[in-house]
Amino acid sequence: MTPIILFGGRPAQRDLWRAHLSDAAAARGLVMDLRMAPEDADPAEVDAIIYNPDGPVQDFTPYTRLRGALNMWAGVEKIVGNATLVAPLTRMVEPGLTLGMTDWVVAHVMRRHAGIDRHIALPKGHWPQDHPPLARARRVTILGMGELGTASALALAGLGFQVAGWSRRPKAVAGVESLSGADGLDAALARADMLVLLLPLTADTENLLDAAALARLPAGAEIFNPGRGALIDDGALLASLGAGHVGHATLDVFRIEPLPPAHPFWDAPGVTITPHIASVTRPDTAAGALVEQIMRLRDGAPLLHVVDRARGY
Ligand code: NAP
Repeated sequence: MTPIILFGGRPAQRDLWRAHLSDAAAARGLVMDLRMAPEDADPAEVDAIIYNPDGPVQDFTPYTRLRGALNMWAGVEKIVGNATLVAPLTRMVEPGLTLGMTDWVVAHVMRRHAGIDRHIALPKGHWPQDHPPLARARRVTILGMGELGTASALALAGLGFQVAGWSRRPKAVAGVESLSGADGLDAALARADMLVLLLPLTADTENLLDAAALARLPAGAEIFNPGRGALIDDGALLASLGAGHVGHATLDVFRIEPLPPAHPFWDAPGVTITPHIASVTRPDTAAGALVEQIMRLRDGAPLLHVVDRARGY
């Protein structure tokens, strides 16, 4: 059987993705009938949709034969509650997305660890001789030890940082201390000279970093959030920065994006903003991951990275 696959990305993405998906399918010997726009397909014949939360397909009701919605993003918070989708939902796991996130996390942790912000912005005539500690003296905690958190934890541990990771279930990751559950969260926060947020946004994780959680961090702790904006209570973070408890926050994601010009994060001392660029799904590396899923669907094999809709990720 030749599966009929609908590309549900934005119109501007179609040409690039068609090329990469066709190449990846040819490399694996997959024959598929790829339709690049909803108007090119009879919904009742579509086997799988490559789904983009910002794309044209949001009502799945007409897709009566659908056997898989393959999310183009790692985050699923925009689709997980969509009641019109009854077919299995998968989230994106692909090497380019993982490597990009690891680059962002390592770059910004090293930037703050090595005091780069301070040393490249010296007032004229200043010549401070403050040497940063070695990485091995710094404790980094990663909240969320999934695909992206684990890769980032391993990279930081490889640089010598003392790394711990917190997740729902305990993990065995070489060189990384595993913490889990509610007690584990207290310990994870209390040791976090640097705290990296790589949790999905769910009912359980929204506002996880509230005033009480921020108060558990060591004085001067630094926060890095490439996860989702709503993991943090914005007002509590601003208050903690203002009181000098949290030392600095490097934020890539926000409750509203683009971050509105009037948002106090723009002018808050101790906040560095990046415009949700920590990582991205890259067609050249992600096409292979999607082709693998489509081959599984064709063969009746279980899909990879299926989202637990009740759990929210
Ligand atoms: P993932 O593989 O699903 O991992 C999620 C991790 O969070 C897992 O370790 C999970 O624990 C843990 N977790 C979830 N709920 C928890 C809870 N209530 N308590 C404790 N731990 C919990 O996700 P991923 O692929 O690493 O992606 C993580 C997030 O990164 C995405 O959801 C997205 O929001 C964000 N992201 C951002 C960008 C960007 O450019 N800024 C790009 C890509 C992704 P278990 O392992 O025990 O299940």
